Amino acid sequence: MEHIRRNKIADLLKSKNFGSEVLVKGWVRSKRGNKNINFIALNDGSAIHTIQVVAEVANFPEEVLKLVTTGSCIAVKGTLVESMGQGQSVEIQAGHIEVFGTADPETYPLQKKGHSLEFLREIAHLRPRTNTFGAVLRIRHAMAFAIHKYFNDQGFYYIHAPIITGSDAEGAGAMFRVTTLDDKNPPVLPDGHVDYSQDFFGKETKLTVSGQLEAELGAMALGLVYTFGPTFRAENSNTPRHLAEFWMIEPEMAFYDIHDDMDLAEDFLKYLIRYALENCHDDLEFLDKMYDNELIARLNEVVADKFVRLTYTEAVEILIASGQSWEFPVDWGTDLQAEHERYIVEKHFGKPVILTGYPKDIKAFYMKMNEDGKTVRAMDVLFPKIGEIIGGSQREENLDALLKRIHEMNIPEKDVWWYLDTRKFGTAPHAGFGLGFERLILFVTGMSNIRDVIPFPRTPKNAEF
Ligand code: ATP
Ligand code: MN
Repeated sequence: MEHIRRNKIADLLKSKNFGSEVLVKGWVRSKRGNKNINFIALNDGSAIHTIQVVAEVANFPEEVLKLVTTGSCIAVKGTLVESMGQGQSVEIQAGHIEVFGTADPETYPLQKKGHSLEFLREIAHLRPRTNTFGAVLRIRHAMAFAIHKYFNDQGFYYIHAPIITGSDAEGAGAMFRVTTLDDKNPPVLPDGHVDYSQDFFGKETKLTVSGQLEAELGAMALGLVYTFGPTFRAENSNTPRHLAEFWMIEPEMAFYDIHDDMDLAEDFLKYLIRYALENCHDDLEFLDKMYDNELIARLNEVVADKFVRLTYTEAVEILIASGQSWEFPVDWGTDLQAEHERYIVEKHFGKPVILTGYPKDIKAFYMKMNEDGKTVRAMDVLFPKIGEIIGGSQREENLDALLKRIHEMNIPEKDVWWYLDTRKFGTAPHAGFGLGFERLILFVTGMSNIRDVIPFPRTPKNAEF
């Protein structure tokens, strides 16, 4: 086949350039027809839709069309023509077909349509070839791009927080250890503990649970910064909303208070959802049709509505007054569970809610204390179908107040000396938040399990691919 440029199927489907010579390359979704004519549905990942390739059997050597089966990879050169068939406006009249890779119909796992999401998780190496995962992965890409675009347009700088960390002060969850010590025969101290001074970094190191503390260091120099990277939590929570490895976006802003923080979170989320509505239309339409008929309506509502803002204390009053029975009882001072968050958002208000003023004992050491001495300037953004999507706060910038909290919570000062330096030297009021990337993708795609919005989910007992 002579060397001409490959046409993307997404472009051809929009084209009216009938009669032109085109070259497409992609994977066969299906082939049907009779002894005279074959109709091949071809997908190349550039769009959810396939293009129809029409092959007159007489024009091709028998062995070629026989190899064109579901899952095989082919190149087709032919003529773009207006389609008379239903469901498409263009098709390709095939002149030449080259088979790059066959897919034996006896063993190709995606031979049939309509596999369950559970089954597809077992073949995560092949599931991007389905309509569902194609749509999810294109939307995931669009959201990652939109996140960088939003912050860049607002004058934020992208900071890369380390993935391996020597600090475990963040307290956001259990951590994975990173080591090169011999697991069968590690060096041991006289007291029986492993001697991490002989480990690769000369100390015990872990995978980070959050880039926030490092982002704060950046904000104290660059003003407006954000991180966007992988984070790890070794919590054994087998829920549809938790992964052991997930991506988090953490903006951190010098001179912002808790109200500025909430305004940014609301504007940011609305921007991202609007971006998806404007740029991922076909994929959203597919997911809306196949999985969640209220998806597009819900996205439009969230963009249009002002988020409700109320305090934790008010939320607890609403929950108690509701008369509902809960799996986890609510009382002032307890952490809210997903069932409570979803009641507030879905049943009580019917729109996103930002809760503030959480009890200090259920929040991290760095959150700024309110005047009452009992609550902190935390804010959680709660979304329909998701529960918590963002967790953030105004940070304690006062050195003495921060030290008091660190001592109360038994965090060794020597572990956070570098963090304390920001409060010693040119401290400034500041605030930030963490958005769980996969929770955002869950919301935007309408998928219901977080394992289905990341290419290779890491969950307890699952790291095959
Ligand atoms: P949750 O109560 O839902 O476990 P969290 O309070 O532990 O959340 P934060 O430590 O505040 O969450 O993290 C910030 C954001 O990161 C959360 O709002 C959520 O969107 C996301 N997130 C937290 N833990 C996970 C996880 N295990 N998997 C995926 N996303 C997560
Ligand atoms: Mn958690």
